[in-house]
Amino acid sequence: MKISEILQSNRVTVSFEVFPPKQWDKIENTKALVREMSTAEPSFMSVTYGAAGTQSGFTTEIANEVKNSGITPLSHLTCLTSTRDKIHRVVDELAQNGIENILALRGDIPEGFVFPDKQYFEYAYQLVNEIKSMGDFCIGGACYPEIHPESKNRVEDIEHLKYKVDCGVEFLTSQMFFDNDKFLNFYEMCRIKGIEVPIIAGIMPITNAKQIMRSIELSNCSVPKKFYRIMERFGDDPKSMKQAGIIYATEQIIDLMANGVNNIHIYTMNKPDVAAAIMNGLSDIING
Ligand code: FAD
Repeated sequence: MKISEILQSNRVTVSFEVFPPKQWDKIENTKALVREMSTAEPSFMSVTYGAAGTQSGFTTEIANEVKNSGITPLSHLTCLTSTRDKIHRVVDELAQNGIENILALRGDIPEGFVFPDKQYFEYAYQLVNEIKSMGDFCIGGACYPEIHPESKNRVEDIEHLKYKVDCGVEFLTSQMFFDNDKFLNFYEMCRIKGIEVPIIAGIMPITNAKQIMRSIELSNCSVPKKFYRIMERFGDDPKSMKQAGIIYATEQIIDLMANGVNNIHIYTMNKPDVAAAIMNGLSDIING
C-alpha cells in the first residue's frame, strides 16, 4: 500500500523506524526484531539506509521482512555517495520486491567530501526527480523543525523544502525534536509557505541518556530544561531512564495530537519493548 493512502485518512497514524545491521551475520536478529515490532501494529515501518550507501542490500532485505510481517514498508534511500547507476539498481530492486514507498534523502556530507561529477546527486530533490522518472513510487522526504544544520536560516530552509515537495514528495517526516512548540511553529510556517503534504512528527524516545547525547548534538535540536532534568536525575539508572524516556515520548505524542497532529513517527532504535510500551500508552487514543 502507498503511504500517501495510509496518511489520507483523518485517523491517527503511528509508524516505526528500524535500522538494518552493519554485518550480514546479524540480519536474522534484525528480522526477528521487525517481526516483534510488527505485533504492535504500526501504520508502516521505515527502514534506514547506510550513510555511505552501504547496507543497501540489507535495507531491501529488511524492508521485505517488514512486508512479510504484514506491515507496509518505507525504504530509505540516500544519494550522496551513489552514482545514478547505483540508484537505478537499488530502485529497480525495490520495484522487483514490490516495495512502492521510498524516503528520498541526500545523506550527510562526510568531512572533506567533494562531489566527484555529475553522476552524483547533490540534493535530495534531484533524487526525487530521478525516482519519479523510474516508476510509480510514493516518495517521502525529510524535514527539519529546527532547521537543517547546513541552512543559513529558516526562510531558506523552507524554500528548499517547498522546492523538494514540488518535485513530487508526497509526505515529509521530521527530524526528532523534544520541544513540541518547535514542531508546531514549523508546521504552521510550512502551511503558510504552501507546503501542503502531510508532515509526520518524528519522536525519539530517549531511554539511554549517554548514548543519545551525540545524536542530539548532530541533529541540531534543542533540549528543553524539563528534559535535561530528567536526564540528570535518571541518566545513571538505566531502568528509571527507560521508563522516564517512554513517558516523556508518550506525553509528547499526546500533546501533539491534542494540537491536531495526526501522524507520528517513532525512532524506535530497534527496541520492540519501547515501541510496544508507547503504543500501549496510546492504545485508546489510536483506536478511538
Ligand atoms: P536535502 O533536502 O537535499 O537538504 C540538505 C540541505 O541542502 C538543506 O540544508 C537544504 O536546505 C539544502 N538545499 C536543498 N536544496 C538546495 C538547493 N537547491 N540549493 C542549495 N541548498 C539546498 N541519513 C542516512 O544516511 N540514512 C537514512 O536512512 C536517513 N534517514 C533519515 C530520515 C529522516 C526522517 C531524517 C530527518 C533524516 C535522515 N537521514 C538519513 C539524514 C539525512 O540524510 C541528512 O539530514 C542530510 O544531511 C540531509 O538530507 P535531506 O534529504 O534532508 O537533504
